[in-house]
This record gives sequence, structure tokens and C-alpha cells, in this order.
Amino acid sequence: MKYLFGPVNSRRLGRSLGVDLVPIKTCSLNCIYCECGETTNCTDAIAEYVPTAEVVDELRECLQACPLLDVITFSGFGEPTLHSGLGEIVAFLRREFPEYRVALLTNATRFDDPDVRRAVLAIDVIIPSLDAAGEDAFRKIARPAPGITAKRIIRGLVELRREYRGEMILELFIVSGINDTEDELKKLKEAIAMIGPDRVHLNTLDRPGAVEWIQPAPMDRLRFVADFLAPYPVEIVGKPAHAGPVRPAGGDVANTIVATVARRPSTLEDLSSALGLPAADVNRTVTRLMNDGVLEKRQSGRGNFYCLRERT
Ligand code: SF4
Repeated sequence: MKYLFGPVNSRRLGRSLGVDLVPIKTCSLNCIYCECGETTNCTDAIAEYVPTAEVVDELRECLQACPLLDVITFSGFGEPTLHSGLGEIVAFLRREFPEYRVALLTNATRFDDPDVRRAVLAIDVIIPSLDAAGEDAFRKIARPAPGITAKRIIRGLVELRREYRGEMILELFIVSGINDTEDELKKLKEAIAMIGPDRVHLNTLDRPGAVEWIQPAPMDRLRFVADFLAPYPVEIVGKPAHAGPVRPAGGDVANTIVATVARRPSTLEDLSSALGLPAADVNRTVTRLMNDGVLEKRQSGRGNFYCLRERT
């Protein structure tokens, strides 16, 4: 499978089959906390980055086996709404596999475009991120492609909310000292009032980010932010929504581990939970992949994370 990964136990969505529509790492932002590393192609251009027909074929092949999933999620190595075939792929899923919920993780930079908004209207859950409403803080955290501003993102989200009937969960990624000051939080609160999401999720660093210096925000700071944003329904994102066993979509454990850690660095515990296998079995495969030079280990807040080994 080239464009599908997982299923993984998503902290918010449960057992999630990932769909990746852009090559590593194509995004309109270069967030300092990105778990996929630095953006190498920072662009807001919309294009068919990978063949739409091949993505549809992979989805058909995978879903015909009726995998046990909570959701199919557009996410991965970059920004899915940059792909010109997103609407066509969503329509395919709705038509041929209506039993599966569909979700989109997005940086919301392209919702100023009516065609992009139209492409996502049939999705069940949209989780857009908005890390700052003030331009300075936004630039520090998101390091955007030219022309992308916090104002443009907020305008696009207001338009989307007007047209979209599904669930919208706005995600705020808290970076202590940048977007959690009272001044920044006031601007964010005003933006939330304009957009009107169903819920707000507060997130902080869980895996190694794109820059070394970023640290997770402490829990008491997250609680302060949640209280500040009241009365909006704010949740601090915690444990996986579903902790049950998940079988790899492609059936091959080593390939699934490689595809998963390529998109999100994972601990042994993460991988064991995602694959529904004892940690000892996952450890055996991970050790083999380390010995073969495929994976490497990086120490970060939650422990040892396995990532694809950087080629020199
Ligand atoms: S976190 Fe998302 S929006 Fe930010 S650089 Fe990574 S893929 Fe792009």
C-alpha cells in the first residue's frame, strides 16, 4: 500500500485507516511541532500530487476486506486539501463504502477557495488546526508559505462553517510562551466565536517535533487555557479514543510499522496498541528493522520513539 497506512489508534478518532495524498513533505505550513519533520516543499499550490485513480484502487482493495475501523482519515505526510482529487476520493468513499466514517485533519489554509470547501462537504468530521490568531505568533509557530496568514485561515473557516453540516473540531496546539499569553488567547477566543466549531481540542507535543527546542506544555497550563476559553467546549486531548486491538490493513507487520513510523514517530507502546500485538512481538520486528538500518531511535518526552532512519 503506497497511500494507505495503519490502522493506528488515533487519540481522537479511534481505529483510523490513514490516507496520504501528498509526498513527503508537502505542506503549506512548516510547523515547529510537526511530527513529520521539516517541510521540504512549502507550497499552497493545488495539484494532483499522487494519482487519484491509484488512491481509489488502494482504498477499494483494502476496504473490500471489511477491516474493523472507526474511521478513514485523510492525514499523513502533509496537507491533504492541496490534492486536487480530494473531492473525487471522498465521493468514491461515500458511494461505495458509506458504512465508514470519514475524517480530515487539515491546517485549514485553503478553505478560502470555494472548490476546496466543496471537496470536503461530505466528510463526517473535519479537524482543522488554528494555532494562533495573531500574525506574529502564527508566523513563529506555523512558518507558512508566502501569502498565508492567520486572517486568511480564519476567514476560510468562517466560510466553511457556514456551508458544512458535519462535525467541526478546532484544534489548538499550545506552545508555551508563544500562543498561551493572555493577549494571544483573547485573539484566539474571538476567532473561535467567529468560526463556531462544535468543540475545541487542546493539544501539545506528544512526539518529537520539527525543532529540537520545543517542549510539551505542562498540564496546568493546558487547564489554564481551557478555563480561559470557557464557555466554549474545550477538551484537553488525552488517551486513544479506542484502545482495542487493530490488525494491520495490509497484513504485514514490518511494512505496517515502517508505514506508521514514517508518518508519526511511535513508541513501542504506541505500535503495540496500534497493531494489537504484544509488545515483545513488536519489539522483535522493530529490533530487526533497526539492525537492517531501516529505523532509528530518538529520545523525546514520552520515551524512545522509532522513526525512519535519515539517509545521508
Ligand atoms: S503539523 Fe500539519 S500543517 Fe503543520 S507542517 Fe506538519 S503537516 Fe503541515
